[in-house]
Amino acid sequence: MITRTPIAVHREEVEAGGSGARWQRQLSESIRDPATLCHRLGLDPALLPGAEQGHDLFEVRVPEAYLSRIRAGDPADPLLRQVLPLGDEARAVAGFIDDPLQEREHAPRPGLIHKYANRVLLIASPTCAINCRYCFRRHFPYAENAPSLREWDATLDYLRQDETIHEVILSGGDPLASSDRRLAWLVEQLDAIPHLKRLRIHTRLPVVIPDRVDTALLAWLGSTRLQRVVVLHINHAREIDAAVEAACSRLQAAGATLLNQSVLLRGINDDVETLATLSERLFEAGILPYYLHVLDPVAGAAHFDVDDREARTLVQALRQRLAGFLMPRLVREIPGEASKTPL
Ligand code: SF4
Repeated sequence: MITRTPIAVHREEVEAGGSGARWQRQLSESIRDPATLCHRLGLDPALLPGAEQGHDLFEVRVPEAYLSRIRAGDPADPLLRQVLPLGDEARAVAGFIDDPLQEREHAPRPGLIHKYANRVLLIASPTCAINCRYCFRRHFPYAENAPSLREWDATLDYLRQDETIHEVILSGGDPLASSDRRLAWLVEQLDAIPHLKRLRIHTRLPVVIPDRVDTALLAWLGSTRLQRVVVLHINHAREIDAAVEAACSRLQAAGATLLNQSVLLRGINDDVETLATLSERLFEAGILPYYLHVLDPVAGAAHFDVDDREARTLVQALRQRLAGFLMPRLVREIPGEASKTPL
C-alpha cells in the first residue's frame, strides 16, 4: 500500500518543476483576464465591459495553445465564443440554475458522485485548463469537493466495498489538470480493486494543451490493467489541429479508446455543416463521435441554448449527411434518470 499523500506529492512536484513542467508552465501562463484576451486577439474594446462582467462571475482562462487557433479580430469566431465572457452571463433566465444536474444530491462523499448503476465519478481536480462559458459546473462548489487524504481513503474504501461498481470516471474540473504523480497514485489504488474493469477519463486538456499528453501521463495510462476510455470534449472541427491529432495518437498508443462529447451551442456549432465537419474531423483524428448534448440549463449560459425542436431537426438533417458510425447521439441529462436521455 502506497502511503504518500497525493496532495503532498502534487505540491512537491509543482515546486520541483517535475516531469509535467512543460504543460504545467503552459497552464500557469494561461490568459486570465478579459483585457489581455481582447488585446491579444485585436478585438473591439467595446466588448470589454461585458467581458469583465462575465469574468466576475466565472473567470477567464485560455491557454496559449488554444488561443493560437482563434481567428484574430473576429468576435463571432466559434472558438472565441466558447471562452470570451459576455454581459449576457449576468442575466437571470427562468429555469437556468446553479446546479442543473442536482449533482450535490448524489455526492455520498466529498469528490464522489454516484448517480448511475455500476459506475461512479470522482472529482479528481477542481480546476480546468480552459474555462468554457457554458460549463454546467461553473457554479460547482469545488472547495467542498476537494477531498483530504483521509477522505480519499474513505472514497477508495467506498469503491472497494461496493462490488457492483465496475467503472470509475475521473472528472473535474479536468482530471488531467492534476499532476501525473497524483494520478499515477490514484490509478494504482484503483488498479488494485478487483471488481473495477474500466477507467474513464473525461478531459479537455489534450485538446486545449496537447503537450499534456506527455511521457509521464502515458506511463501511468499505459500501465494500468483497467480498460481505458478517454472522453474528449470538442465542439468544433477547428479545435483539432495537428498537435491535437498527435496527442490523440499517443493516447491510442497507450491503449485508450477515444470518444468525443460535444455540446450543441448557439452561435458555435448549431448548423448541419459545422456538425458534419466536426464528426468527419473527429474520425480523422481517431475519435468516435459519441454524444451531442443539449445544453444543461446552468445559470449564465442561457444565450447558448438551442431548443429541443431545433436540435432534433438539426440531427435529422445530419443523419442524411453522415454514415451511422459518425452520428453522435443527441442526449439530455435529466436529474434522477438512470442514464442520459436520448432526444
Ligand atoms: S473543460 Fe469541461 S469542466 Fe472545464 S470548464 Fe470546460 S466544460 Fe467545464
